Amino acid sequence: MRVAVFSTKPYDRRFLDEARGAHSLTYLEPRLSAATAPLAGDAEAVCAFVNDTLDESCLQGLAASGVRLVALRCAGFNNVDLEAARRLGIAVARVPAYSPHAVAEHTVALILTLNRHTHRAFNRVREGNFALEGLLGFDLHGKTVGVVGTGKIGQCVLAIMRGFGCRLLAHDPHPSAAAEALGARYVGKGELLAESDIVTLHCPLTPDTRHFIDAGAIAAMKPGVMLVNTSRGAVIDTRAVIAGLKDGRIGHLALDVYEEEDALFFLDHSADVIRDDVFARLLTFPNVLITGHQAFFTREALTAIAETTIANIDAFATTGQPLHPVPA
Ligand code: NAD
Repeated sequence: MRVAVFSTKPYDRRFLDEARGAHSLTYLEPRLSAATAPLAGDAEAVCAFVNDTLDESCLQGLAASGVRLVALRCAGFNNVDLEAARRLGIAVARVPAYSPHAVAEHTVALILTLNRHTHRAFNRVREGNFALEGLLGFDLHGKTVGVVGTGKIGQCVLAIMRGFGCRLLAHDPHPSAAAEALGARYVGKGELLAESDIVTLHCPLTPDTRHFIDAGAIAAMKPGVMLVNTSRGAVIDTRAVIAGLKDGRIGHLALDVYEEEDALFFLDHSADVIRDDVFARLLTFPNVLITGHQAFFTREALTAIAETTIANIDAFATTGQPLHPVPA
């Protein structure tokens, strides 16, 4: 098939080229939106990523030029108007699992870094400052970790945190026997928030989970809690979290995702003025650690993403159905 690949970075090209088979891939750097949809040209499929905006007007443009498949090279699909895609006869495929380990391991890297301040220690030592003041952490052993969303990634996080000797709580509308076998106890949202020393978010962004962590949830958390979000930015209300950081209710915050990340992430803004005052405020806190949506970024994950994306396109080309359509 002729496929227009949007939001292409050099690493996407490298891994997709290895997997492409007979398909003709055109690599485009711009993000996909209504404005850039015409760049798809005569493509029969587009390949898009997390911060592309596939709203109704974008999908209308794609449908009008003959696109019949959107192959997302990510798991989340909150950036696609699925109802409009259905009406327009465009199939939407995703990569449901590539490496849950990649995201879980990055989550734990954030927890360890934030707790033991290794990012600050690195800079201090390079400047000849060996003072320990300000680097105090806590033992993970014996602490309670609350995992919200115990799907593929949440279960990997549970398995790792179990290894640290943590007590495991879980919250999910669909409890999993595998998570329980790892030692997790399912509880309601209130109990998880009240009991957890670390709350880590691994649910998808849906109307139900938007601002799952809001001012009310923050008030219900243990004072000094560590909050970790590697799922989607809008699962937390960033302004409420900033208020929680200011009054000390939130003791540590680690983010790999941010509500308004599409204006910032995946691009080099090091020579620009950051215009997003909420994000800029987050950067001022010594107890906030932010990475730019890199939890998925391992060789194994990029290989799996490329191979599954091509498998979706293969299946659509031969049967009219992708291998992994987004859930209805
Ligand atoms: P998954 O579908 O395997 O698991 C998601 C779990 O969340 C399911 O068990 C589901 O029942 C649960 N859930 C749904 N609504 C919930 C709610 N209201 N409260 C609690 N739990 C709820 O998905 P996954 O592969 O584990 O991925 C989880 C999320 O991680 C994705 O949706 C995506 O947003 C995010 N993600 C981020 C990165 C990154 O690089 N930062 C990479 C991949 C995925």
